[in-house]
Amino acid sequence: MIRIEHLVKNYGSNCALDDVSFSVSQGEIVGLLGPNGAGKSTAMNILTGYLSSTSGKAMIDGVDILSDPLRAKKMIGYLPEQPPLYPDMTVWEYLSFCYDLKGCRGDRAAHLREICDTVRLSDVSGRLIRHLSKGYRQRVGIAQAMVGDPKVIIFDEPTVGLDPKQIIEVRNLIRGLGKTHTVILSTHLLSEVQAVCDRIVIINKGRIVADEKTERIANAVSESRRFRAKICGPQELVLQALLEMPGVARAELLPERDGDASVYALETEQGLDIRKKLFYLLSERGWALVGLESSGVNLEDIFLSVVNSSDQSGTKRAPRSARKTRRGKATEEETLGEALYEDADRRRKESAAQKNDED
Ligand code: ADP
Repeated sequence: MIRIEHLVKNYGSNCALDDVSFSVSQGEIVGLLGPNGAGKSTAMNILTGYLSSTSGKAMIDGVDILSDPLRAKKMIGYLPEQPPLYPDMTVWEYLSFCYDLKGCRGDRAAHLREICDTVRLSDVSGRLIRHLSKGYRQRVGIAQAMVGDPKVIIFDEPTVGLDPKQIIEVRNLIRGLGKTHTVILSTHLLSEVQAVCDRIVIINKGRIVADEKTERIANAVSESRRFRAKICGPQELVLQALLEMPGVARAELLPERDGDASVYALETEQGLDIRKKLFYLLSERGWALVGLESSGVNLEDIFLSVVNSSDQSGTKRAPRSARKTRRGKATEEETLGEALYEDADRRRKESAAQKNDED
């Protein structure tokens, strides 16, 4: 349904997309993931016909977006990160306006009613958009993307700035749309990819570095475990003991404390549960374990898993056991993993700060 072939986009001497190719089948939901400046928006803007490419092709259902933009655009609904809403219109007026803009034909009222029902806007269709909460406005944004019943819907960071309940609602909506549409969304959140996408394409510095089924990635990730352990004891010795513990792939002292306890990040080999052994080891040495929590998975996990799986098919990366600490020269993949993680962390903080401001 969507085919991108050898797409290159240069901004002057800056290469934002460097020979990017991927395709999305009908009815598939694909997540485009990458750190800031990776080229996600550029790819989406080319795909939606907002930008032209330096070279390469973007096709929607066989129609080239550059050579036949009107036909191609008719097949696309787009929700940018900032939905293009007019606050002085009511929801209905706005959707009706979009209906005209897109040159739709047929029973306008029936079409808009169906959309409002699907995204649960019917109760507020007569309200001014300026009086809606951010969650409802996002639904209006999704609704405008659905006007004209496009085959493809593209979402740019659809849940940024929403509260947890709104995030779940919007994800459910997108999943529902995925049953009848082909969907691409850009996101920096693992939970989003897992909850919504069938496949994940990771892009970095304008190049695709991974393209995998979400299920495969989730399986790989769930087999690796990360913990934060709070331990009272001499830091050097504790760290040494952790690093030497069978089953520990990585151990690191974090720059934080909880009372007397130092905090360590631990990553275990795939499939191993070291919690009991850790408890016995520490108690044998007389060091108190005062906290042990799972850190969950993040973009770095995904990235490393993807890189690990590609290793199994014969490419570069060293095995996990050879990478016990972060000391030494980071590989390009590790640097990217860090960048993805830091980017996600930064955005989480920004989003929390933004929410605080709104409160
Ligand atoms: P992402 O959406 O992943 O954050 P972008 O597609 O916005 O990444 O940007 C990719 C690269 O292209 C970045 O290096 C960015 O600075 C550059 N870039 C994006 N838009 C422009 C522009 N209009 N002019 C020059 N450089 C740009």
